[in-house]
Amino acid sequence: MIRLVAGNWKMNGSLAANRVLLDGLGALPGVETAVCVPYPYLAQLQQRPEGLALGAQDVSEYVAGAYTGEVGGSMLADFGCRYVIVGHSERRALFGEDDLTVGRKARAALEAGLVPIVCVGETLDERDAGNALVVIDRQLGAVREVLGVAAMGGVVVAYEPVWAIGSGRSASVEQVAEVHVAIRAWLREQGVAAGGVRILYGGSVKPDNAAALFAVVDVDGGLIGGASLVAQDFMAICRAAAEAA
Ligand code: PEP
Repeated sequence: MIRLVAGNWKMNGSLAANRVLLDGLGALPGVETAVCVPYPYLAQLQQRPEGLALGAQDVSEYVAGAYTGEVGGSMLADFGCRYVIVGHSERRALFGEDDLTVGRKARAALEAGLVPIVCVGETLDERDAGNALVVIDRQLGAVREVLGVAAMGGVVVAYEPVWAIGSGRSASVEQVAEVHVAIRAWLREQGVAAGGVRILYGGSVKPDNAAALFAVVDVDGGLIGGASLVAQDFMAICRAAAEAA
């Protein structure tokens, strides 16, 4: 399975800054690369390096209609998006998205022909209480409840421990291995075609830890926040994924 490295620009960028960043990006053999950009920049990203896939950072659970401020999956597809992040911990924590909402967003994405990157992960308190896997089971369980088993095989899962996001403190390779193996096993137990589901790791991935993280069992790529805003760093991480393949 070819690895996927997706950049999450979060609420960063400007037309001018994006142009500079895009100049430094390009496709690499042996790895799929994508950037998930703020909605207004989807138009700008119509012109981007060949082979670089496009994604968004959220999608409405609704198809169309009287939902002021929402952006529907078909609109993202119109702009050539292949991916959309759903359930990022910032959306869960700051915008009140619950597990079933994340499931409905994943369903809306799939129905629009997009691939949802479903983010799951525990807070530090939940990890310290020994509940990391319980939390992830619950989060994934809600998505499976909405999607059903067959459609669940069409998502990308991103394990993003909340405490590792933007903190400069990545999870250890042992922690990542434990969770990724557990996610794959969980998918298999549910009857999902687990071998075809990419499981990304996200949380303070940088050029200096990327190779070690991508070498971990059941890590099929990365979701990259801060480092995706620096072309040289993002490309170094993509290279590490290609070389680990
Ligand atoms: C993210 O926002 O999904 C993320 C992983 O951020 P960072 O790489 O900055 O920790």
